[in-house]
Amino acid sequence: MSHTVAVFDTTLRDGEQAAGTRLGSREKLMIARQLAQLKVDVIEAGYPASSPEDFEAVALISREIEGPAVCALSRAVASDIEACGKALAKARRPRIHTGIGASDIHIAGKFRDERYGATLGEKKVTILRMAVDAVKLARQFSDDVEFYAEDAGRSDEAYLFEMLEAAIDAGATVVNIPDTTGYAMPEQYGALIRSIHERVRNIGKAVISVHCHDDLGLAVANTLAGVRNGARQVEGTINGIGERAGNAALEEVVMAIRTRADYFKVRTGVDARELYRASRLVSDMLGMKIPPNKAVVGGNAFSHSSGIHVDGFLKERETYEIMRPEDVGIGESRVVLTARTGRHGLRDRLKKLGYALSQQELNQAYQRFLAVADKKQEVFDEDLAAIVHDEIHPVPETYQLEYLQIYSGTSAIPTATVRIRVKDGTMEGAAIGDGPVDATCKAISAVTKSSAKLVRYEIRAVTAGAEALGEVTAQLEEEGRRVFGRGASTDVIEASAKAFLDGLNKLANLKSGGGQ
Ligand code: MN
Repeated sequence: MSHTVAVFDTTLRDGEQAAGTRLGSREKLMIARQLAQLKVDVIEAGYPASSPEDFEAVALISREIEGPAVCALSRAVASDIEACGKALAKARRPRIHTGIGASDIHIAGKFRDERYGATLGEKKVTILRMAVDAVKLARQFSDDVEFYAEDAGRSDEAYLFEMLEAAIDAGATVVNIPDTTGYAMPEQYGALIRSIHERVRNIGKAVISVHCHDDLGLAVANTLAGVRNGARQVEGTINGIGERAGNAALEEVVMAIRTRADYFKVRTGVDARELYRASRLVSDMLGMKIPPNKAVVGGNAFSHSSGIHVDGFLKERETYEIMRPEDVGIGESRVVLTARTGRHGLRDRLKKLGYALSQQELNQAYQRFLAVADKKQEVFDEDLAAIVHDEIHPVPETYQLEYLQIYSGTSAIPTATVRIRVKDGTMEGAAIGDGPVDATCKAISAVTKSSAKLVRYEIRAVTAGAEALGEVTAQLEEEGRRVFGRGASTDVIEASAKAFLDGLNKLANLKSGGGQ
């Protein structure tokens, strides 16, 4: 039995599905590059059949990424699998991930139609055949095919085993046993993996993969139970982001396997010193904050505060510390950037943060960096993340903020005047509102004649101090479409206006049929 556990990252697929978050293909590529730095074994880049944007992201990552295998998801449907094949055409190591529901609940619920069979028994025969056909078709596009038995955690064992055996006979090289609903308990899930390992006749020809969700807070525990019982691939996401309560947090799984190598007796190929960087990048890109008490990458994960602990820690590190912050890439000495920092220095720092920019992107980011450095004395990493976001957004700017003036105070009616640049000229307008932000959004809506509604608004200081860069995330809705707009500025009203316009630009881009 192998002593190496493959790490399968699904941040860009299962993670990105997380409520309300959509990334553009260039943003996805940036995350993929950091995942390659991290040396994960597989990057699941998306679900090509789901949308043209997802297809494009998978194709772009396939072209650009070297090192990890690039994987695309599909249902057990021919058109889905063909889309995967096309999107992965340029990948050096393509993998197709296909599969179907394995539990009675999924089969009865998702395959209600008579054409799958009149009874549950008949449906199960049809589903098994669909599974085999899907794997065979996927094998025509790639030698590396992973089969998932959806909701395996709640399925009937005999049927699950029959399905896995058939999938392996059809050519599956990896079999994924997802606990789709996060229902399993560690001992139970471990026992399931063990019996697959022991009882599926041809299991020696495939790797067992574990894919766990955190609905009961057990995703990492279940994943590790799987490893103890014979799984040799773990699936998860950076920071544990994902549907509902999320997926297994890869940084936790990796560090558990590493810290307790004595117990697991296996290793991964991950370069753990890249974990913190990956965590920050994903958090910044998706606007999902990391709780301070989050294991491995949280702000307090390595700080000691109780008197007894601090005393013990100072005498001997090992008394209260099982991992060192530098093991995961925290606490490398930081040089503060200023207006005198050159393009080269900026590029180095961005690279350390996981942002690999093209020359043109770097030039844009540098201009913006100089403007920020002018307003604030020192520029921190957090500022840079906001700058990069603002500057290299792949969405065409239908609307651009040219001018913004606010009138507001304790006894004034908040009034905003805006001038917005469009393709053939500028448009101006003014509005009053409940506050300066409201007035600004109303003025922009009036000028652009947009019916988009602001459904969520969040502001955060990306660095400490009164001169901090403020970052605004605005969720806009129009005709059932939801997008996120972002904007950063040392002036929070300006940041709000930019976020609102960024959202409108994304909506305009979607309407014109472009990807976001
Ligand atoms: Mn999942």
